[in-house]
Amino acid sequence: ANATETRKFEAEVAQVLHLVTHSLYSHKEIFLRELISNASDACDKLRFQALSDPALKGMDADLHIDVLWGPEARTLSVRDNGIGMTREDVIANIGTIASSGTRKFLENLSGDQKADARLIGQFGVGFYAAFVVADKVTVHTRHAGADAAQGVKWESDGKGEYLLESEELPEHGTTVTLHLKADEDEFLKAWQLRSLVHKYSDHVAFPIRLPKDKDGKPTDELETINAASALWTRPKSEITDEEYVNFYKSMGHDFNDPLAWTHNRVEGTQSFTTLLYVPAQVPFDLMMGGRDERKGLKLYIKRVFVMDAAEQLLPAYLRFVRGVVDSDDLPLNVSREILQQNRQVDRIRGACVKRVLDLLDKLARDEGEKFATFWGAFGNTLKEGVVEDPDHRERIAGLLRFASTAGEGAAQTVSLDDYIGRMQVGQEAIWVISAETHAAAAGSPQLEALKAKGVEVLLLSDRIDEWMLNSLTEYKGKRIRNAAKGELPLDESDKQKQEEATKEAEPLLERIKTLLGDRVGEVKVSARLVDSPSCLALSDHEMAPHLARLLREAGQ
Ligand code: ADP
Ligand code: MG
Repeated sequence: ANATETRKFEAEVAQVLHLVTHSLYSHKEIFLRELISNASDACDKLRFQALSDPALKGMDADLHIDVLWGPEARTLSVRDNGIGMTREDVIANIGTIASSGTRKFLENLSGDQKADARLIGQFGVGFYAAFVVADKVTVHTRHAGADAAQGVKWESDGKGEYLLESEELPEHGTTVTLHLKADEDEFLKAWQLRSLVHKYSDHVAFPIRLPKDKDGKPTDELETINAASALWTRPKSEITDEEYVNFYKSMGHDFNDPLAWTHNRVEGTQSFTTLLYVPAQVPFDLMMGGRDERKGLKLYIKRVFVMDAAEQLLPAYLRFVRGVVDSDDLPLNVSREILQQNRQVDRIRGACVKRVLDLLDKLARDEGEKFATFWGAFGNTLKEGVVEDPDHRERIAGLLRFASTAGEGAAQTVSLDDYIGRMQVGQEAIWVISAETHAAAAGSPQLEALKAKGVEVLLLSDRIDEWMLNSLTEYKGKRIRNAAKGELPLDESDKQKQEEATKEAEPLLERIKTLLGDRVGEVKVSARLVDSPSCLALSDHEMAPHLARLLREAGQ
């Protein structure tokens, strides 16, 4: 009945389209990577579903991706014989924005074009990148499980509406055809397309084929031009940095170079390969606080893509990690439920955590600048691990960086080991102070006594710090103490001075107590202060003032 219909994009799609086309202009060729990445995902899905669905059996024998250019019609097509889409799939996947993270992203957009361009570079722009170079895009698709009559055509100029039509399609899979804008002729040249495929998609695990050309025109003869081997299955020694970087980008989550990676093979009672990347910038889904929507770690079983399994294979505090895990032993019919409580998965997860922490250690030790980049982007995420992963608490704590009274302003550069290395003779604790802002921490009157004694104090002012400090009570056998809490340790002469001062000040203390009444627990003479006449202090078991305020704001 609804063979042909015109539908409107969701309002958000129009916004994304506008942003993508304006922001990606200087990197417009990435549309090809995005389309090939989708085609590869579609082949992965068919291969996986063919294992269990008898109707799809054998359809995965010759999966491939073709990049076809038509100089006369000025079109460029990416065609795959993967899983394809039903009409409902097309409506759900193209023309809407399924991810609630993207919605939040759009709500938070500033009017500042520049900032927006930077933001958009931080997430896989996906299908919509086609509109950077095309003024019309046509999709022909048929689900592998549907018959020839159930093909679907989708078409749009990216301006707000799209057309849907039923059509007869002899082959399953998807063809995305771009009608190129007037000045995009470079994407009609075989050599240019070939070099782009090499650059961005060499290690896509399916053959990518291009027609051979004759006098600038495509012939019927197709030629496979990528390596089509899964990169992670090759020996480390044979893989160049450039190949690692391009593979990362070909996964389609980030358009920047990764910061670092670690590639390992474990052989034994259980065998698996991990190739894990740390991005250089906060990926888009993370930036939106998406602890629940985690993408980017793909689980393969004997080179067959099974599912995105970031949640099962990495703890939340390492959710910035991207990459691939390939297991030789897990059964291909695993479900998410099985993954949640499988001992083999636990081992793989343990190995992933260890590899990432090793990688971060190495960066901290040998590549300070890169580590600083990491810390700036993901430091606060990593801090969650102090609370959530007691087994690795000490290792994670060793990676933390703080501002310090002995450091450079608000820059977070001082590690707990740096601190311990500078501790004074006889000093037993690591002193920190936490406040809502760096300025408040650095200017806190509670620091004065420690400062006067030349004791270094770490200055904590990130939102998460107070929560983290509840779990971070010691490091390498040294207590971590908050200068805002309790009595400071006094030496003998201080004690005597304090007693004398208390006696002298008795009448004054009495007066203040009467004036303040119930509003304070106690009024004391203190060695805490040097220049300020007075300060408020908490007893050891009281909540820090700004944490108390946060909880109040949250209605607790
Ligand atoms: P992502 O790939 O991150 O999901 P995209 O914008 O690239 O986002 O693609 C949106 C969705 O459209 C995909 O998740 C998929 O469901 C569908 N899709 C796009 N291209 C194809 C294709 N070639 N074959 C099958 N489905 C596709
Ligand atoms: Mg995609």
